[in-house]
Amino acid sequence: MKIIELSRVNFKYHITYALKDVSFSVNTNDFIGLIGPNGGGKSTLLKLLLGILTPNSGKIEIFGEDIKKSIDLIGYVPQNTDFNRDFPISVIDVVLMGRLKKNSFGKYSNNDRQIAKEALKRVKMYDFRERAIGTLSGGQRQRVFIARALASKPKIILLDEPTANIDSKGQKEVFEILKELNTGMTIILVTHDISSIIEYAKTIIYVDRTIYIHNSPKLSITNLKDKLNITDGHLCPIELINYGVCK
Ligand code: ADP
Ligand code: MG
Repeated sequence: MKIIELSRVNFKYHITYALKDVSFSVNTNDFIGLIGPNGGGKSTLLKLLLGILTPNSGKIEIFGEDIKKSIDLIGYVPQNTDFNRDFPISVIDVVLMGRLKKNSFGKYSNNDRQIAKEALKRVKMYDFRERAIGTLSGGQRQRVFIARALASKPKIILLDEPTANIDSKGQKEVFEILKELNTGMTIILVTHDISSIIEYAKTIIYVDRTIYIHNSPKLSITNLKDKLNITDGHLCPIELINYGVCK
């Protein structure tokens, strides 16, 4: 079933287009990896899906409705940042922030707490619930932010470079959790981690102002070049050079 549909979306910040003529649809339980060069428009695309930005022209529908009606169905996980490690907030309080959208009274109910605890169990961080967020590793912290997104009971989760600056063990743990979540929810993830996205994504979308879609689960590095229509002499995205896809 189609749950997100973009038709001929154009967006510009000032005079130049960050995204031009972007059309694609997303099905239930898809796992989409957004890749592409820096400045290619990946974060802009997520912000349009979150309703933070509005297209200059074109249309975005989520569950067949205008984006404003469906905003509660989307969870968001920000880029991993090494924010102030002394910030004295516990893991469970970070996850409870995910209930704020659903709870306009500013006070958490027992139900909110129960949902936050369940979210922590799903990302295997329940035993860390009383720890200060700043004492966790980058990978553990990202799992807590995934739990915060889950606490709002979304149908779709958007993640912007969630594993940037995380060690490879932590990255794998994050991707394994996303794989499990993907059995019941749609995932759209921006990443520079080409090898992980090839392993975990069902669809890869290459974003460089316009988009190129590749519905090729389990792409191998060797055929990625063909799938992405990268020809020799064509400018190679920096992150693909490392994988020998093009020069
Ligand atoms: P990516 O996430 O793929 O690196 P972005 O979506 O952040 O790319 O940026 C796409 C283009 O839009 C870039 O040229 C960037 O400089 C520009 N851009 C991003 N955010 C803003 C902004 N707030 N104001 C003006 N230009 C922006
Ligand atoms: Mg970005």
